[in-house]
Amino acid sequence: MILNGKQVAADRLEILKGEIRSSGLTPQLATLLVGDDPASRLYVNLKHGACSNVGIGSVGKTLPKEASTGEVIRAVEELNRDAEIDGILVQLPLPPQVETHRVLEAVDPVKDVDGFHPCNLGRLMSGSPLFVPATPLGILSLLGHYRIPVAGRNAVVVGRSIEVGRPLASLLTCADATVTLCHSRTRDLAAITRQAEILVSAVGRPRTITAPMVRQGAVVVDVGTNFVDGKLCGDVDFAAVSAVASAITPVPGGVGPMTIASLLENTIRAARMRRCTPV
Ligand code: NAP
Repeated sequence: MILNGKQVAADRLEILKGEIRSSGLTPQLATLLVGDDPASRLYVNLKHGACSNVGIGSVGKTLPKEASTGEVIRAVEELNRDAEIDGILVQLPLPPQVETHRVLEAVDPVKDVDGFHPCNLGRLMSGSPLFVPATPLGILSLLGHYRIPVAGRNAVVVGRSIEVGRPLASLLTCADATVTLCHSRTRDLAAITRQAEILVSAVGRPRTITAPMVRQGAVVVDVGTNFVDGKLCGDVDFAAVSAVASAITPVPGGVGPMTIASLLENTIRAARMRRCTPV
């Protein structure tokens, strides 16, 4: 079974559109882009486009690539103070001179629709999530849509970033999976991935997951976005792994669209919370 994130996200966005229309709210998302990296620019533009399709307002702020940590934090603080803005998204990665953790800590936790503020990551760890990072949230929604059971299953997550791997491990734990989190120092990765009933790869390297690494009938989720010869591909050897897995996400059209839909869900949630209507 192909887990069609593109279709599921499109359906979810239609529902969100209706919810926004009937709520009478116009949530506002602000993006902050530092520098001129084309991939980051593309991702920011995709998010603005998705906002406008569902009736969320969005504004984009751009700082030069030489911006200092202090300048980026000041821009974040301005957005924190702006009563019109419900959600703030700092596009990552930031240029190397900028201290990313300080910038993420500057975002007001109630506007932190990316869920990267330590308050929100801490809430997730403690089992009472508020804003959950969009990619892990999108993955759980996708599994939920296809009624793939999570509770009690062995889940292996490869990659331990704050954006994907760590919050996903927490979210799967909240959903009662038994979770193993792997990374570049993991010994005998294949022996661990072969135990997985749910296997997620968030590494950013093509062919990280090959067929011999996958248990027969596993559900395989590919978060990776890599370019090989100008073509987008994931971390998973899709053709070979499809023959072993019971379900698999494609790249493109799997996790990516779900991430955007989840970001918009978080933005609507932030708007409802700030404007004091029940969540
Ligand atoms: P990241 O911060 O670079 O983290 C990569 C992780 O992979 C690290 O934890 C690293 O281990 C681990 N790793 C590297 N080589 C490995 C190996 N050989 N074996 C096992 N683990 C290894 O990346 P990220 O931000 O999480 O993103 C991962 C990928 O997902 C990228 O391709 C990114 O573009 C994509 N992504 C896609 C979406 C989407 O919506 N589709 C969203 C976010 C990210 P160490 O910690 O030990 O270094």
